Amino acid sequence: MSAQIIDGKKISDEIRGEILQEVTALKAKNVVPGLAVVLVGEDPASKVYVGSKEKTCQQLGIYSEVHRLDALTTESELLALINRLNEQSTINGILVQLPLPNHINEKAVIDAIRLDKDVDGFHPQSVGNLIIGDDSLLPCTPAGVIELIKRQGVDIAGKHAVVIGRSNIVGKPVANLLLREHATVTICHSRTTNMEQIAKQADILVVAIGKAKAIDSRYVKPGAIVIDVGVNRLPDGKLAGDVDFNDCLEAASYITPVPGGVGPMTITMLMKNTITAARRANGIEV
Ligand code: NAP
Repeated sequence: MSAQIIDGKKISDEIRGEILQEVTALKAKNVVPGLAVVLVGEDPASKVYVGSKEKTCQQLGIYSEVHRLDALTTESELLALINRLNEQSTINGILVQLPLPNHINEKAVIDAIRLDKDVDGFHPQSVGNLIIGDDSLLPCTPAGVIELIKRQGVDIAGKHAVVIGRSNIVGKPVANLLLREHATVTICHSRTTNMEQIAKQADILVVAIGKAKAIDSRYVKPGAIVIDVGVNRLPDGKLAGDVDFNDCLEAASYITPVPGGVGPMTITMLMKNTITAARRANGIEV
């Protein structure tokens, strides 16, 4: 039997519909959620991502400000902008598009974002809150992974989840979110031995390594749910995930495609975080 393909675009549209309703309800209470996106320099991919965030805000009725700064902007100029946005009442969420130019200390910039406006969920205190189970804004791509699994009607509790990749932006937070959902979690990385054997025990296999089609059916237990976070550009210009999709189709029960799987969820979860931040800033319960 062939796996059911998880349609990230459809699920993302569903959630956007819910967000639109929430925005309408907030506006009825005179609350307009606001997101500030800061872009430093001319990185082409970053420009595209920032443009999509701006467009999505418009579509969902979220107020947005995009601060496009020169590549030569100094760290102290950027920090001064963040401090202004931290205090600006029309802004509930601040996202600094990464990567930043080399002369700017990324960590200092992330640390400067006020915790309640940290819609990217990368602030060390947000990460700490996620681990100890306190309320925090969740990092968008990892939160999107959990949402995709849950919206298939899959109960994560008690499942063995294997996460391949341990980056701060994907692997570690995904693993912690799965743990929070009561999965038994194993994390693999580039120094893991017997990875094939470990991955093959997974009921839920999440792959985030940045290597095109590296994970094939040898790593997949029959009936496993396979979530591919990878986005890789092939020599022919096409996009491919970290999972060999066609090879895993037979073994998996559910699988995400690339593109059209995890990808569309990231901006949607960013919008969700902005709404949550706006609600909390105004003391409005769900
Ligand atoms: P990263 O920072 O480069 O981390 C890669 C991780 O994978 C590291 O922990 C590394 O292990 C591990 N790894 C690399 N090769 C491996 C191998 N052969 N076997 C086992 N582990 C291996 O990458 P990232 O930022 O997490 O991103 C991962 C992928 O997700 C990329 O393709 C990226 O483009 C994609 N991504 C997509 C979205 C989205 O869809 N919205 C968002 C973010 C990232 P070590 O720690 O030992 O080096």
